[in-house]
Amino acid sequence: MTARSRVLVGLAAALIAAAPPPRLAAQRPRATQPARRPAAAPPPRAVIPTPRSVLGFDPGDDRKLAEWPALVRYFQALARASDRVDYRELGKTTLGAPFVALVISSPQNLRRLDRFRRLNAGLADPRGFRTNRAAQEALRDGKTIVLITSSIHSTEVGGHLTPVALAYRLATDTSATTRSILDNVILWLVPSLNPDGVTIVTKWYNRTLGTPAEGSSPPELYHHYTGHDNNRDWYAFTQVETQLTVDSLHNVWHPQIVHDIHQMGAEGARLFLPPYLDPVEPNVDPLLIDGVNALGTAMTWELAGQGKTGISINSTYDAWTPARAYQHYHGGVRILSETASGRLASPVDVPFDHLQSRSRGYNPRERSWNFTRPWPGGRWTLRDIVSYQTAAAYALLVNAARDRDRWLSSFLSVEWRAVRGWRGWPYAYVIPARQDTIALATLLGILQRGQVEIRTALQAFALQGQRHPAGTYVVVLRQPYAAFAKTLLEPQHYPDRRLYPGGPPERPYDVTAHTLPLLMGVTAVVARDSLRVPLSAPVSAPRATSRYPGFAAAEGGAAALRVGLYTSYDAAIDEGWTRWVFDTWKVPYAALVDSVVRAGKLKERFDVIVLPDQSPREILEGLPASRYPAPYAGGIGPDGAEALRQFVLDGGTLVALNEASRFAVQALLLPVRNVLEAVPDEDFYAPGSIFRLELDATHPVAHGVPRETAAWFQGGAAFDMLDSTVVRVIGRWPADPDRVLLSGWVLHPERVAGKASLLEVRQGTGRVILFGFRPQYRGQSLATYPLLFNSLQVR
Ligand SMILES: [Zn+2]
Repeated sequence: MTARSRVLVGLAAALIAAAPPPRLAAQRPRATQPARRPAAAPPPRAVIPTPRSVLGFDPGDDRKLAEWPALVRYFQALARASDRVDYRELGKTTLGAPFVALVISSPQNLRRLDRFRRLNAGLADPRGFRTNRAAQEALRDGKTIVLITSSIHSTEVGGHLTPVALAYRLATDTSATTRSILDNVILWLVPSLNPDGVTIVTKWYNRTLGTPAEGSSPPELYHHYTGHDNNRDWYAFTQVETQLTVDSLHNVWHPQIVHDIHQMGAEGARLFLPPYLDPVEPNVDPLLIDGVNALGTAMTWELAGQGKTGISINSTYDAWTPARAYQHYHGGVRILSETASGRLASPVDVPFDHLQSRSRGYNPRERSWNFTRPWPGGRWTLRDIVSYQTAAAYALLVNAARDRDRWLSSFLSVEWRAVRGWRGWPYAYVIPARQDTIALATLLGILQRGQVEIRTALQAFALQGQRHPAGTYVVVLRQPYAAFAKTLLEPQHYPDRRLYPGGPPERPYDVTAHTLPLLMGVTAVVARDSLRVPLSAPVSAPRATSRYPGFAAAEGGAAALRVGLYTSYDAAIDEGWTRWVFDTWKVPYAALVDSVVRAGKLKERFDVIVLPDQSPREILEGLPASRYPAPYAGGIGPDGAEALRQFVLDGGTLVALNEASRFAVQALLLPVRNVLEAVPDEDFYAPGSIFRLELDATHPVAHGVPRETAAWFQGGAAFDMLDSTVVRVIGRWPADPDRVLLSGWVLHPERVAGKASLLEVRQGTGRVILFGFRPQYRGQSLATYPLLFNSLQVR
């Protein structure tokens, strides 16, 4: 894809992100209109096509994968032939492929889909029930709505094929169990949450078959912008695939159960199912956690009864972040399954004594309450992966059908509790309307996409001595999805968890903070009690353009700015996010690969080079030459490091983000010291937290940013200056250790207190800007975007 088309794609994504979704009523027909079958006379159905008849192989055959168009052809053929399956195209992916879903149920149910959607929508917002009888009717006649999503992580290739096997089974099986599933469940099956990646990985796999690179990850991100982070987007909604799934399925069908199919490493359990580990994010309704626990253990029981071994529960994965679990804040459970991997579609041999767990909660060589029957070791194939995944999904559907009454009544209970409000929760969040329009529009747009009702005050009112005019936004925490609003608007207090008392921290599975007002620099004030002010009906989030005022070059000088963005073949997720931010905010750039860096004379082509967050080793050494062919192996190497040093001496600006700042310090021998270098977890720890950042407002990099703001800290740095004649501090962590943490978790903040976090270092006629944090974290930290944009333009 060319840089130009990247920009266009990015622009389209930005427009989608910036434009608030249409109101719910206007959205609903979207998922139900296409390809409706007339109720009276169903067309004649053909023989159900086998997967082999379209793909040329059976799902699970060794070394066989299919590109996305072939999988789409199969799903279309299946839907044409089966009266249990309908095919829908929900939209286009980032790279323009069809993004599709199948709806699977009994023919009778499929003919009356709209009725079941309406019944379920009633349960999702029980304020609409005029009578108890209406609620009883919805409970009696409704179906369990299940959403199964697969293959979001494209190297987890069982997930490419399991939907094929599952859909074929549901379309053809005549057993009483399958009939019960079809009668009681409406299944929305998204065969891939990342169709582009299916093709990227399959092409790479087929190209490298029989070479040393067989089974390796491709030398590019398998989602164009977000790579593996694509399943961390379920509240920020930055990517079109997330937007399509949320807008067309979650928000229209309100599934009681969401099941996301994944794979994990090859040398632990064969399958992980919930219960999750602690901590569970405290805004998730307890009844949903009970549902997760019951469903996960029911699936485990079912699979164990079929003789499947090596299943672990209550291990490895916690339930802290909403970034992976949209439905936990929307009345449904979210079940994660993780099956052991091979080498893509190639088998692996794992002798029993090679089994090892780098993860928490069980030992794969020992029987325990949550790992009742260890796998004996041996060969592990794609067929095993597809078999475990298909059986797990089917077991989930068995439960969804058998316990339909319980799933629906639990769903209704959760929603009633949400609209009545939880004891101890604040009354509302108050969000002033007069602040940074882009950040405000983005934050409110996220809440709106999450179906949070945003109202405005109809009169002026006072809160904590502050007067707020009429028109101020108010999010009342008594509404169906109040938990979604609350978790995103409040600071997180991650529990202090240790491996043993006083010992090293127990690492969370992902990050520990997600407070959007901090990340976006938006003021949101908590109102403990009723505001005693009349409120409007729900309003739309304000619109914003995609032009960021902090990026002055976009006003006309953009074309003159020559930015190189280092793009490693050891693909770095942060490079993708940087590209997404640049495309969205129209920052021009060219990708800079290893061979170009090594060739030198960089100042002739670039004014600024950006090194996204990536470890020094990955930048220098890249992918191993023992596995990867040219030009993918080797990193920038010593020649590349020297070329970057020369670039700065010649007058260039090198911008190094987060871990890459350690590379820059080492490679360019900068007179600064990262005080966190080689510091163990027990002496300092902050695994994805929001820190207070104090800026020198007189420095051009800090232009347009408040003197005190918030920055995303994750594996970042804290610097001491060794030569103040060439180093200038732009930002610091607060001198008072108690003021460092704003949201999330930190151990021993005194280690970083008062240290520099953003520096300019002059060398020759150029400069290096060192970021000790991630200024464009996952497309969320709008508060610090201007620091990145300004750093491209300092002269
Ligand atoms: Zn995964």
